[in-house]
Amino acid sequence: MRLKLSKTFRFEAAHDLPTFPDGHKCRRLHGHSFRFDVVVEGDVDPALGYLIDYGEIKRIVDPIVKRLDHYYLNDIEGLSNPTSEMIAVWLWQHIRPQLPLLTSVVVYETCTSMCEYNG
Ligand SMILES: [Zn+2]
Repeated sequence: MRLKLSKTFRFEAAHDLPTFPDGHKCRRLHGHSFRFDVVVEGDVDPALGYLIDYGEIKRIVDPIVKRLDHYYLNDIEGLSNPTSEMIAVWLWQHIRPQLPLLTSVVVYETCTSMCEYNG
């Protein structure tokens, strides 16, 4: 039985987007209440009845969230251009080595704007 499950994380952070056109609102320093979903996929062991303990995902991802929460993202190594796309890739690169079941990272910069990265 193959399936996907996900766990949602949140963090608050500031950024500006230096590659946007001059005068674009995203060039100005501003903040977001970011949300992202960590999606894992795999085969459920019938004897266990679960794919992974959600607490295991939290144990892996919480320290990564601490590196982002209430920071200016442009100052973080690898995030000098912190678009949703680059944040999704950065999260993948930091989570995947510890979570081989990872199949996608979905970043929500606002309630209506999301970006999905599948590695
Ligand atoms: Zn923004």
